[in-house]
Amino acid sequence: MNHDLILRNGHVIDPSQNIDGPAEIAIKNGIITEIKKSFPVSPEIPTIDLTGKYVCPGLIDLHGHWYEGSSYGIDPNGCLNDGVTTVIDAGTTGFVNFQHFRRHTIDSAKIEVLAFIHIGGIGIPTTLLGELEDLRYARPRETSQVINKHRDVALGVKIREGIMSGEHGLKALDYAVMASQKSDLPLMVHISQGAETPKILDRLKAGDIVTHCFQGRGDGILTQPSGPLLTNVTEARKRGVFFDVGHGCGSFCWETARRSFEYHFYPDTISTDLHRFSIDRFTKNLPTTLSKFLHLGMSLNDVISKSTLIPAQVIGRSDQLGTLKTNTIADIFVFEIEEGEFKFEDTHMCTEIGKYRIKPSLVLKAGEVIHSGQIEVRLRELFDCDKEYYQRIEGSA
Ligand SMILES: [Zn+2]
Repeated sequence: MNHDLILRNGHVIDPSQNIDGPAEIAIKNGIITEIKKSFPVSPEIPTIDLTGKYVCPGLIDLHGHWYEGSSYGIDPNGCLNDGVTTVIDAGTTGFVNFQHFRRHTIDSAKIEVLAFIHIGGIGIPTTLLGELEDLRYARPRETSQVINKHRDVALGVKIREGIMSGEHGLKALDYAVMASQKSDLPLMVHISQGAETPKILDRLKAGDIVTHCFQGRGDGILTQPSGPLLTNVTEARKRGVFFDVGHGCGSFCWETARRSFEYHFYPDTISTDLHRFSIDRFTKNLPTTLSKFLHLGMSLNDVISKSTLIPAQVIGRSDQLGTLKTNTIADIFVFEIEEGEFKFEDTHMCTEIGKYRIKPSLVLKAGEVIHSGQIEVRLRELFDCDKEYYQRIEGSA
């Protein structure tokens, strides 16, 4: 017997192979062994009938927070309920706590966890104080050392630019660029209110990533208050800088997205920025974020590409991840497109009604079938300061 499972009768979308139509996928020992229009009937091989369903590579979430030693962190395994098979931590840890993160989460999680390492030694610990308000936390040498020791899972350097980097955002950026050069890996830059975005963009090189590209709280990718895209944005994109959504609890604004689309500026990757404060209300999960982009007019094929093929390319893993090619890991997402009236909210409390929603059915993680809702999601309890943080978010919308 050549296969131990065949997924039959689904509509397969795999942008890495330009497949968008009926196809069947055979799996053995957690690896995709063959994909073709249809396999002959063979009663001895188990099958799953996916009539009426879509099938795509397991989703890759380029931006989330999965270190539970931070007040932001959540257990990454819950994302398997939502078709996500690879999550990327966006700098929740720095060189001080990355090894703890690796030992207790990355190495033991069922889901694939990869990570950007924060230039600030302790990563992003709490909402109480910005992690780079004191520049002494920025450590290029130690950051590149820890990255170089963990290159199998470390993808590059992370920095948050905005009020969390105090008065010295550009100096901190210099350190982050230094660490990125020392490790020869990309830099992911969060841009939020208070960031000197044009100057930041000018310093980024091909392969670097700007996250929160559709935030609407100021100092974003559009000229203020209602002008076109910054020329620095178009130039950065031309140089090969990637732009990522990173929805989160404060970084997705319908109006910013629509205005950017008017200038033919679309995101390279669609990610959630899932963390303790965004999971309950604002972001929920990656399929919900993708559904918001369907609502904004992007095609299903496009949103799947921006959550499979493109993030895999951005992190340099497209030979193994974000694809249904033969001999790659059987990370597969099965979903339905529901039609109806769905409420989608941005992070400025604006609700719009969408017509379509991506509804997860099941996921295969290295060939193992997991049904949506099967993985228990446990979130840490909230304290008074956490509730105050929610109030600040709502108050500033
Ligand atoms: Zn984040």
